Amino acid sequence: MDERYGSSIYWLETSARAAAPPVAGNHTFDVVVVGAGFTGLWTAYHLLEADPSLRVALVERDVVGYGASGRNGGFAMTLLDMSLAHLRRNHGDDAAKAAHDAVATSVEEIGATVAARDIDCEWRHGGLMVVATNPGQQRRVDADLAAAEALDLAGFTRLSAEETQAEVHSPTYLGALREEHCGVLHPAKLAHGLARVVEGMGATIFEGTDVTSIDDADGRIRVTTPGGGVLADQVVLATNAFAAHTPWFRTKVVPLYTYVGLTEPLTDAQWDEVGWASHCGIEDKRNFVHYYRRTVDGRILWGGSDGVIRYGSRIEPRYDSDEKVRSRLRRTFEWTFPQLAHVPFSHHWGGPVGITVTFVPLFGTLLDGRLHYGLGYNGHGVAPSHTGAKILRDRVLGQDTALTRLCFVDTKEPTFPPEPLRWVSAELTRRSLLRQDTRMDDGAQEGDMDPLLLRLMKKFG
Ligand SMILES: Cc1cc2nc3c(=O)[nH]c(=O)nc-3n(C[C@H](O)[C@H](O)[C@H](O)COP(=O)(O)OP(=O)(O)OC[C@H]3O[C@@H](n4cnc5c(N)ncnc54)[C@H](O)[C@@H]3O)c2cc1C
Repeated sequence: MDERYGSSIYWLETSARAAAPPVAGNHTFDVVVVGAGFTGLWTAYHLLEADPSLRVALVERDVVGYGASGRNGGFAMTLLDMSLAHLRRNHGDDAAKAAHDAVATSVEEIGATVAARDIDCEWRHGGLMVVATNPGQQRRVDADLAAAEALDLAGFTRLSAEETQAEVHSPTYLGALREEHCGVLHPAKLAHGLARVVEGMGATIFEGTDVTSIDDADGRIRVTTPGGGVLADQVVLATNAFAAHTPWFRTKVVPLYTYVGLTEPLTDAQWDEVGWASHCGIEDKRNFVHYYRRTVDGRILWGGSDGVIRYGSRIEPRYDSDEKVRSRLRRTFEWTFPQLAHVPFSHHWGGPVGITVTFVPLFGTLLDGRLHYGLGYNGHGVAPSHTGAKILRDRVLGQDTALTRLCFVDTKEPTFPPEPLRWVSAELTRRSLLRQDTRMDDGAQEGDMDPLLLRLMKKFG
């Protein structure tokens, strides 16, 4: 196993790309993008599509797709905030609708772009099924359906218990909502495919290059790396959870590790016992959701269940797996699909996502309008990073558009407390959320978030 990873990541085992060389010597570009995950890659893509003459470079500390982009569940879905109902409550109807519609457009554009650009990332546009496995979760499903109706959003349907179980055969389902705008994909193949496409459009990619500082340089920006410096007119910071290690975002973004398990391929007979012909993505309505999907080679990726914040916002390969979370994932997988209790997990891995106080991403500008950032998708960045990259494109090109006015752009960004309070409050919050999940599993009629959590969020938000 590659020592940069603390676990075998199936997506990276099944997609390959020859790494580009690191920065050596001094270079000049119009735009430098720091971080080659989905945000960085889509930003380069949208910029070069808008203006093919731009000189664009991507500078990546490890390899393309090293961060969450190469290891996620692969759901391209519309979710922003904790739920559609929360988005509406926190931002109002007009802003919630605009944000939702922008990401729904991205879902469709991702599908169209991978087809047009010949990126074979196993895209399956099967929609999303958000299932309720207890009455409290059903209340949350109902609240999201009510929000969709109030916002007049297209593509939402209510499913009864029978309809849900007919689609995917789990005895745990009490009902669901179906959302049309969702596709699943192979994330590493998307990242590697996008890298090929942007290189073909003229971008330069540097890998194995740690950006150690980004500073003002007399009207331009200097990006410093161990092998040399890169001067640019504008810089885009696309390092998501890793931005927690910069002075700008130390108290605004906290890395949270989320984990998945992946089964061995199921036999045809086992698939007959599960159904799931549509390849839809599935989530439940716990605080720590379960998210799960099929892969094209017949496996089930089973993720969520818990999340772990490390003291000091640490991100290290040794956290790429977690035995406690793996056991919890295994238990909930077998509870959901008792007919598959004997199908083992072949892989288990995780990675850091960027959490913000407000549960929506942060987009804005620093250094007199020449450093643009977009990060903190709270575990939902696959499609929102495509939307975000269009915002970053518009910012770099100096355009005021409907996208640059979305509710998560240029906001007053509340902060988390400094350590050790940050870790303590995050841990209290995590435990409180897990307790509520357990209470709801035991039949408690709670639909809203735990009052302790709401108090903590108010205090630190
Ligand atoms: C296990 C898991 C499951 C997930 N499942 C889903 C899902 O199903 N659907 C969904 O919507 N979202 C999911 N997510 C979240 C989603 O993957 C992320 O929101 C999204 O990939 C963020 O993309 P990004 O480009 O902003 O960040 P990243 O992919 O994290 O990229 C940041 C990049 O910046 C680089 N970098 C950091 N510091 C530096 C530096 N100093 N110099 C140079 N480069 C640097 C990193 O190496 C990294 O490659 C999941 C995440 C995980 C971990």
